[in-house]
Amino acid sequence: MSDLVIGIEVHVQLLSATKMFCGCKNSFGDEPNTNVCPVCLGLPGALPVVNEKATQMGLQLALALNCKINEVAPYYRKNYFYPDLPKGYQITQYATPLGQKGFLEFPFGKGKKRVDITRIHLEEDAGKMFHSGDITKSSSSLVDYNRCGAPLAEIVTEPCIETPEEAQAYLFALRNLVRFIGISTGNMEEGALRCDVNVSVKNPDGSFGTKVEVKNLNSFRSARRALEFEAKRQRDLIAQGGQVTAETRHFIESTGETAGMRSKEELNDYRYFPEPDLPPMVTNTSQIEKIRQEMPKTPGQIAEKFEKEYGLSQYDAGVLTQDKETTAFFEECVKNGASPKKTCSFLTVEIQGYFAKEGLSLGQTKLTPKLLSELVKLVDSGQITNQSAKTIIPDVVAGSSSEKVAKERNLIVIEDESAIIELVKQVIENNPKQVEQYKQGKTALSGFFIGQVLKASCGKAQAETVKRLVEEALSRL
Ligand SMILES: [Zn+2]
Repeated sequence: MSDLVIGIEVHVQLLSATKMFCGCKNSFGDEPNTNVCPVCLGLPGALPVVNEKATQMGLQLALALNCKINEVAPYYRKNYFYPDLPKGYQITQYATPLGQKGFLEFPFGKGKKRVDITRIHLEEDAGKMFHSGDITKSSSSLVDYNRCGAPLAEIVTEPCIETPEEAQAYLFALRNLVRFIGISTGNMEEGALRCDVNVSVKNPDGSFGTKVEVKNLNSFRSARRALEFEAKRQRDLIAQGGQVTAETRHFIESTGETAGMRSKEELNDYRYFPEPDLPPMVTNTSQIEKIRQEMPKTPGQIAEKFEKEYGLSQYDAGVLTQDKETTAFFEECVKNGASPKKTCSFLTVEIQGYFAKEGLSLGQTKLTPKLLSELVKLVDSGQITNQSAKTIIPDVVAGSSSEKVAKERNLIVIEDESAIIELVKQVIENNPKQVEQYKQGKTALSGFFIGQVLKASCGKAQAETVKRLVEEALSRL
């Protein structure tokens, strides 16, 4: 049992074409302050209108996270002052969010981990500040309101995560989920997925300790490092007889440490009150059912299908659904007639292994589902051995037809058994010492003879055939 208690809050930017409450373009990387209007700039008299598409995306995410949907979820004003928030308040959901009490289950280690979701709600984003030079000495700041009013879904977990590795795996799984259902790019470097973590060390009696929040982590790695640092800092502090202070800290990328922020930021009173300009978000069972039906499959659902229909292991199904590209690639190969198990093994072990070695990735090479399925089918039909197939991988990745390469390199399997019998005979003749030992009862040596014959065949003989013919020959000794 870990002594750590971790909870995570994630903000996901939804991919709707326009912002949450106005018609401005919702896009990343445009010229600053070009996608703005009286509504998102908070000019007097401007009235917000809810974005139907963004609302649907929020519902999709809530359903994908197995949440209970609240059919009436009112909007509130969260009041605070900051230069990136021209209205002086943020429109958000509060006491009754759109979804509650869900969970996300994902592959972790050799098994699965389930993280319980407390709530998911919709809100609008703030603008973005740019400080010139070193933030502590900066003499000027600029603000871009393009992001102001962009649709966000906030997802809060229960404090049920026990290690920094689990936290990182949860973030990875959540990003994968939003990409699969197509509601967000999930790109952390563009700020489309941002996370805050809170962490505490349990008291000796098992009760929760004082929690510390680390805000604005912008990569999976930063989240993990910040948690590792905090775990150590808090454990050391407690071991020395100190007490952990409830506070918000920020993570310093260059040193891997966290540092306290001004304590008065702890004393926020947001004066929430119902948004008078907007009706509550209202949904009903039939709308929810319709969204559920039309929604793309989640990685979890696809993995389940792979296990059931193709007989893949839970682990393999998890690896194949780790990103959308790999899943689509695999499915295309199977559609082309390649056997699922063999395709899975070539794709996740041989190809990925080769990619890792060469620093490549799917989509960066000339490898297509057609080329890989051709290779797998050659193995499936017994025309080339597994061993030979592995040697062709660099060629297939470079865009060559495996059948052509196999023929050119003379790798097509020796189907003529008399040729293999001849090889068995030679191996037995060439290894009298081992033959003698075998005769004296060292039967484990059959493996040695099989290996020698396979080697002599240059990987062109099928292992099962060689095994059968070697055993027959040895039994006649
Ligand atoms: Zn606007």
